[in-house]
Amino acid sequence: MTRPTPPTPFDVEVDQLVPRLMDGAHEMTPAFFEQLRAIAPTSIDGEDLAEHGRDWWPIAIGWAAAGQVPALAGVIVRPETAEQVAQVLQVCNDARVPVTPMAGRSGVCGGSIPLRGGVALDLCELNKVHEVDEISETVTVDAGMFGPDLEAHLAGVGPGYSVGHFPQSFDLSTVGGWLACRGAGQYSTRYGKIEDMVVTLTVALPDGRLIDTAGTAPRSATGPSLTQLFVGSEGTLGVITSATLKLHRKATAEARRVVSFATFDEGLEACRRILQRGATPAVLRLYDEIESKRSFEVDSNVLIVLDEADPHLLAATMAIVDEELSGATTEDLAHVDHWLGHRNNVSQLAPLWRNHVVVDTIEISGSWKDLSLTTQRLLTTLRETPGTMTASVHQSHAYADGACCYFTFVGRPTAQDGDNQLEAEANYYQRVWDAANACIISEGRAVSHHHGVGLHRAGALVASLGSAHGVLQQVKDALDPNGIMNPGKLGFSEVAQ
Ligand SMILES: Cc1cc2nc3c(=O)[nH]c(=O)nc-3n(C[C@H](O)[C@H](O)[C@H](O)COP(=O)(O)OP(=O)(O)OC[C@H]3O[C@@H](n4cnc5c(N)ncnc54)[C@H](O)[C@@H]3O)c2cc1C
Repeated sequence: MTRPTPPTPFDVEVDQLVPRLMDGAHEMTPAFFEQLRAIAPTSIDGEDLAEHGRDWWPIAIGWAAAGQVPALAGVIVRPETAEQVAQVLQVCNDARVPVTPMAGRSGVCGGSIPLRGGVALDLCELNKVHEVDEISETVTVDAGMFGPDLEAHLAGVGPGYSVGHFPQSFDLSTVGGWLACRGAGQYSTRYGKIEDMVVTLTVALPDGRLIDTAGTAPRSATGPSLTQLFVGSEGTLGVITSATLKLHRKATAEARRVVSFATFDEGLEACRRILQRGATPAVLRLYDEIESKRSFEVDSNVLIVLDEADPHLLAATMAIVDEELSGATTEDLAHVDHWLGHRNNVSQLAPLWRNHVVVDTIEISGSWKDLSLTTQRLLTTLRETPGTMTASVHQSHAYADGACCYFTFVGRPTAQDGDNQLEAEANYYQRVWDAANACIISEGRAVSHHHGVGLHRAGALVASLGSAHGVLQQVKDALDPNGIMNPGKLGFSEVAQ
């Protein structure tokens, strides 16, 4: 069974760790601990608490090397059933104790950091497949199941099935985390983002109710979608305990293409035309010159195409792809193998941060009309931020109306950031992210396409949604009036405890 993978070791003993972001932890009484213990297994082990105090937010890698952890919960609770999750929430709500849901802890925005202490609700023991419906082609699965375990199970059923959700963090993340963050897999152009895959959810609410959001009807006109209310809510409105997801039979045919373009814009245009003619090849990834050189040793803008489907569908898709790519330069098909072989390799991140190189990624989504201009402006913003050494981009997920552009920046603090290495890195990191968010918001683009918001982008979400964020806040207040659910995230105001 897959388990969470920590991003890097702590460089000090756990009892020496300084919780960097906490200003006062929530006090819990012995009687409250007893209530929790009566519901589900708990832990107050130091190493356990330290690991549950962080996720893969890149800046926290530097903090771990400097003996800091983002925050520390007072106790970890590991429910094994949805009913136990609901009971934990109810006792936390009654006692006004903050609860931070978490599973793979692979989020990159600090979403599962227990900012106010309290309960770290570890959902990894909630990991059963309840039903595979081979007629309707759906699976009902617990939220804490990791990607590899789910796909291994589905591969063994009937003709072999797949959900088709393969984020780069496939080995690190869970069904509930995908849904809570509104994630995207690398084959999303054919199979959709997670919000397209979900049929219904079971959710434990802060007051201890356990609800099913929609039954299993494929479409309905039964009021607004409660399912979609919880998709992307990042543990702030309730806990997703299980989900019914659509399935696909394992594809029987596959095709690949690799071409290059003189400019990134020409590549974007080709992607747009392919999608707008109705072709949805699973993978359609366009790399700028910097990333093409870094990944494939090619001096132009490489486009990787990979599709898998029924042979008839595949033939039609690739006929459109080939027509639209006829003016591009054909490149070595081996680049697809290279991409497949390296796509989930994240081993470079920790060594870079440990060498005091600040590196992170920004994934925005925008409509085709202005995507090229926004991409240029954001690249310029990143490059002109003092301290940035390089900034690059690839288009990672495409739709008929627009696409996700995924930026990587690398930098070091400058003299203006001060002499203290850790704080100087934090200053540069804040400066570059502030500049990037300001640019994205002024361009009217989404501040995140699939990484979500968490703690890191909380302010940016409020700024980008404007008055619509007030509506979200009202939903939050209605469902979680005591503000126990994942405090500090999504820009929600906190309730004094
Ligand atoms: C190297 C790397 C690559 C990545 N690539 C991708 C990618 O390709 N696509 C992508 O979409 N993301 C990617 N991510 C981000 C991350 O893996 C996803 O957001 C993932 O979906 C998080 O799942 P998790 O189980 O690790 O959740 P966690 O990190 O444990 O939690 C994330 C958030 O979801 C909440 N949450 C978790 N489970 C539940 C639940 N059951 N109910 C309610 N709230 C819950 C938490 O409170 C938190 O706010 C990447 C991360 C890394 C480190």
